[in-house]
Amino acid sequence: VAAVTEEFDVAVVGGGPAGSTLAALVAKQGHRVVVLEKENFPRYQIGESLLPSTIHGVCRLSGAADDLAKAGFPLKRGGTFRWGARPEPWTFAFSVSPRMAGPTSVAYQVERSKFDDILLKNARKQGADVREGCSVRGVIEEGERIHGLTYSDADGNEREIRARYVVDASGNKSRLYNKVGGTREYSDFFRSLALFGYFENGKRMPEPNRFNILCVAFESGWFWYIPLSDTLTSVGAVVRREMAEKIQGDPERALRALIDECPMIADYLSDATRVTEGQYGEIRVRKDYSYHHTTFTRPGMMLVGDAACFVDPVFSSGVHLATYSSLLAARSLNSVLEGKVDEDAAMKEFEARYRREYGVFYEFLVSFYEMHRDENSYFWQAKKVTANNEPELQAFVELIGGVSSGEQGLMNTDALSERLADNSEEFATAVEKFAANEDGSSVPLFSSSVVRNAMQEAGQVQMRALLGEDAEPETPLFPGGLVSSPDGLYWLPATTA
Ligand code: FAD
Repeated sequence: VAAVTEEFDVAVVGGGPAGSTLAALVAKQGHRVVVLEKENFPRYQIGESLLPSTIHGVCRLSGAADDLAKAGFPLKRGGTFRWGARPEPWTFAFSVSPRMAGPTSVAYQVERSKFDDILLKNARKQGADVREGCSVRGVIEEGERIHGLTYSDADGNEREIRARYVVDASGNKSRLYNKVGGTREYSDFFRSLALFGYFENGKRMPEPNRFNILCVAFESGWFWYIPLSDTLTSVGAVVRREMAEKIQGDPERALRALIDECPMIADYLSDATRVTEGQYGEIRVRKDYSYHHTTFTRPGMMLVGDAACFVDPVFSSGVHLATYSSLLAARSLNSVLEGKVDEDAAMKEFEARYRREYGVFYEFLVSFYEMHRDENSYFWQAKKVTANNEPELQAFVELIGGVSSGEQGLMNTDALSERLADNSEEFATAVEKFAANEDGSSVPLFSSSVVRNAMQEAGQVQMRALLGEDAEPETPLFPGGLVSSPDGLYWLPATTA
């Protein structure tokens, strides 16, 4: 049977935060966009703790911010960590950054089934043709270029779409990303396993930190404890990848044993019961989630979100990278579809900025892990910057070389390991300085230059979304590079911005 063929400007694979954000940002400019999502929403997903710039920056531009505000998600003011040299927990607050002061200095803790559903509905509202229950099977290749895709629709019919661009936003599981060429490189440094479940009636931290993410380091790894409502909590342990076999044999028992090993989490859960039904009833295991693809584009195709890369969950950067990469990709597509910028320049800009942002978080996270020491722990010893991870650091240098904000320090791995160790020390000192205050004041997020660098671009996206035309002009990332338009939806040559 001949496949029904349709035509679109952009065909998006996957309706998670990356796909729905990209679709909204391109459809809103009047382009013909289709989103093919395998599942029927709402569907479960992990990744519940967000950063402010996602909500007040990218989601403001995509049109989803007001619907998100109405949904009543708990307000996350920052993070509380039992991590590093201090035995007591310390807290950082988003609000201490002068850039983000005011109502926009909070993020949300979200049930992803609800959050992702709001974003996908928004894509529809902005004009995208969103089709659920549609699984993409492959792409249409003609020479070097991708010209569309094939999928099976909700009734099982095979269909074909011709599109000027295919954007793979299908997350970490689908194999479609291979179609851009290149390889997926897994990180050894962040090679861990996550085991997670949900609890009712866990304890809450005192106000104003009641809905902060709580991260607690212990001998076997670290725990996240994310309050999703007054009573529901997402609890996950990140441990050595080598424990996979033992854990998969009996995940329930393994999670219980890890909780018992970590006194603070055991205390928070002392009156709690594990949810055993519905979308939260299962104990889930995820591994091999830290990787990057060696190329993010091919003529006619782009990778965004987890399809391209993900580092590690400790600083809630996943949804940020997913939605930010979609903003970058949408600017490139909008510019090319309207003939404002040539395709090569637009794709180069997308890839350079996305890699830079990934690299900045990667570096920050290495420093963050480096800060916690536990000489007797296999987990923590493997998270030290040592001669053993030289090859990986080398790969990381190549990954961000030339586009990183700190490129001068990146020419050899010795200099890089030294810088990572220095970063870690600087961050630890900032924590120590504020956390030791008797008034219990929290650590200003931007007190350390390491964190400031990691959050800089996100802060800028947020400022531009709020100020629009009034925002200060940007400087290009590299000589001859482009800058974003005042409305944040296009690229422009730097001189005419
Ligand atoms: P996804 O959310 O995976 O969406 C992809 C969509 O594509 C899915 O809906 C899927 O059904 C669909 N799809 C797949 N294949 C096909 C196909 N062939 N055809 C059509 N559709 C398809 N991030 C945070 O920000 N905060 C956190 O606290 C956090 N914690 C995490 C904890 C762990 C243990 C892990 C592993 C990750 C965590 N993350 C966190 C990361 C976060 O889960 C991801 O970065 C984020 O979901 C990526 O969004 P995405 O849109 O790229 O992909």
